[in-house]
Amino acid sequence: MRYVVLADAFEKLEQTSSYLKKNEVIADLLKKTPPEETERVVLLTLGKPWPAYVSKETGVGLQQLKKAVAKASGYSPTEIERLMRQVGDLGKVAQQLLAKKRQVTLFTERLTVEKVFENVKNLPEITGEGSVDRKIASIAELLTSSTPLEAKFIVRTVLGDLRIGVAEGRLRDAIASAFGVSPDAVEHAYMLTTDYSMVAKAVATGGEKGLEKLNVCVGHPVNPMLAQRAETIDEVLRRMKGKAAFELKLDGIRVQVHKDGDRITLFTRRMEDYTKMFPDLIEPLRRALKPKRAIVDGELVAIDRTTGKPMPFQEVLKRRRKYEIKRAMGEIPVKIYLFDVLLSDGDVMLDKSYLERREVLEGIVNEVEGKVMVVEQKISDKPDEIRKFMDRALEIGHEGLLAKDLGASYRAGRREFVWLKLKPVLETLDLVVVGGLYGKGKRAGYFGSYVLATRDEESGRFKTVTKCGSGYTDEDLKEFTKMFRKIQLKKPHPDVDIELDCDAYCEPRIVFETAYEEIQVSPELKHTSKMGLRFPRFIRIREDRRPEEISTVQEIKRLFEQQEKRKAKTRH
Ligand code: AMP
Repeated sequence: MRYVVLADAFEKLEQTSSYLKKNEVIADLLKKTPPEETERVVLLTLGKPWPAYVSKETGVGLQQLKKAVAKASGYSPTEIERLMRQVGDLGKVAQQLLAKKRQVTLFTERLTVEKVFENVKNLPEITGEGSVDRKIASIAELLTSSTPLEAKFIVRTVLGDLRIGVAEGRLRDAIASAFGVSPDAVEHAYMLTTDYSMVAKAVATGGEKGLEKLNVCVGHPVNPMLAQRAETIDEVLRRMKGKAAFELKLDGIRVQVHKDGDRITLFTRRMEDYTKMFPDLIEPLRRALKPKRAIVDGELVAIDRTTGKPMPFQEVLKRRRKYEIKRAMGEIPVKIYLFDVLLSDGDVMLDKSYLERREVLEGIVNEVEGKVMVVEQKISDKPDEIRKFMDRALEIGHEGLLAKDLGASYRAGRREFVWLKLKPVLETLDLVVVGGLYGKGKRAGYFGSYVLATRDEESGRFKTVTKCGSGYTDEDLKEFTKMFRKIQLKKPHPDVDIELDCDAYCEPRIVFETAYEEIQVSPELKHTSKMGLRFPRFIRIREDRRPEEISTVQEIKRLFEQQEKRKAKTRH
């Protein structure tokens, strides 16, 4: 296949910003592409001769590339500099210069996709003495036989900046329409392989059946399965048919480990290759994983040297800076907790149930003390037992629990209710209702949210702290509206300091127990207590509490200070 076909398509893609038009251009291109070229065409369209998760660069800088352009066009570096200042894009400069030159020579060799792909792909492998010159020569070779338009895109490809506005996600729809398969099937295949070039090739050669045959393979990161959030243990048990597996929820970095013989690769949740960041884990992982080939899923956690407890996530992130790795390795030991298995030798595990996968995981891991562990787990249907496990998790310094549906398969790239994270709800506050706002939709005719106040110990006045619109059932709202009506006022009660406009006000009598995620400082013009709650959530009505007994401004201030201290601690 001639490279000019690709360059023409790139030009069209650069010219349009319409989603549909871009799709059409890519789909047309794919239809024109012989199946054996599909992978190259897809990768080059995405801008690099390797999939995004491969952390490789061509290693050719702008200055070197200018030399290659000079060599191929016969123009001097000074001329190229001058044009660069005008145009600002070396791709366009190359295009212009080659156009001038071609008027003289009018001869172009027929450049193929394969040739461009191979030369660019090979650039990182050119190392050692004279490597710079050899790289320049390899690029110049392409440019010498390219048309001006081809030159523009070759230069940009080498620079890693194609500028045609094609992000990975777009390939899904383009592949689906080019080959008449469903976008969902394409997406599913992508979730397993994280590589649209593989997906496109599978469809091009085998249609929808070809797609179905695609599966996870070692070396290709799988889009990790994610978790939804649950508020309470009861909610988890309700969603998981009364019984579930509960695992420690560790606060670190999600890491997918691929083992292929002696080779270990670590991918992050965003499918970046992080192998080089954690050199001290490689050997232990090699030892820990029994199969020759495996893909396992886990969380990488930093351990405090003195206490042996997990440290906050930020500490792990410090290691990201490459130059710090060596120093950090000594200071912050890391440990990986494995919690899932996706592949074990020849067995793809994704469609197996959680229980089966867990059993296999336990069978294939030889724990390496202090380095590689299988995450602690408890299967239970007893709220009390789960509560105790949760308390223990928090005591050790973990974030909470992750509940897993016993029968669920591994759903790559999905966030569903078969994995539920369970973090502690912070302290609750008892607050008094001082105003109401009408609900919408189903809740029209009832108050859908309430303005809640705390009590100032010093003045005895009620001061607002939040507007709470979640945590109620429809029944709750009906009932509360009735209660509210009985004590309704046209204006705020004289004991209440309120700035927010409400649809109606009431006597400060009804007390709500309210959960929240965080206490924040609030402008007095919004909340007269000068504090606000993030994510307030109604828990229950406190009939046993009188308004004089509710949480006070002073108490909330103290809680705020404690919270800030806690936050500061986890930051260091
Ligand atoms: P979140 O990032 O809050 O959506 O929570 C989900 C994340 O928790 C996962 O992506 C993992 O990085 C992390 N995690 C910690 N412990 C576990 C566990 N036992 N199972 C699954 N994920 C876990």
